[in-house]
Amino acid sequence: MGPDIETLIQKISRLPGLGPRSARRIVIHMIKNRDISLEPLLTSISRVFKNVKVCPICANIDTFDDICSICSDRTRRNDIICVVESVADLWAIERTSCFRGMYHVLGGLLSSIEGRGPEVLMLDKLTQRCNINGVIEIVIALSATVEGQTTDHYIKNFFGNRDIKTTSLAHGIPMGGELDYLDDGTLFAAFSARG
Ligand SMILES: [Zn+2]
Repeated sequence: MGPDIETLIQKISRLPGLGPRSARRIVIHMIKNRDISLEPLLTSISRVFKNVKVCPICANIDTFDDICSICSDRTRRNDIICVVESVADLWAIERTSCFRGMYHVLGGLLSSIEGRGPEVLMLDKLTQRCNINGVIEIVIALSATVEGQTTDHYIKNFFGNRDIKTTSLAHGIPMGGELDYLDDGTLFAAFSARG
């Protein structure tokens, strides 16, 4: 095997969820199906590479002109905002179709060990959106980890003396559970029974 293919396998094997074995299988598959697999993939990767942006309103990742497809969707409610840790969690919630409001993607969870303070939560930005859109509810959809729950409490306190209801996902989420790994049914149930 020459260095080019070797490098490709190495790069693919470092992607999340893949290892050297699956990387080799993927590369062999792509080479064998050069025209129908490799070329469309190249086109697709280069399109995303050129056009992908972080939404200036919610921090979702998408290809768009000004704001992402969720923020620009007029059929969605803009008076209810769901706070998530990551874009992966936002996409997990979108998969279940249980939520028709807007999002606020955090820049991380509070962590004294890793030195992440309240600035990563960008609550000024969230407050501004609440004021502009007359937000009535903030749904805090964070993982049931220590950091997730600490952040949950911090956000609840922050909005404590305002006229905005703050809710959290129901305890269907197993302790230590990462949102993105939940099956759609569990996530849907946790969302519907929030309080
Ligand atoms: Zn957006």
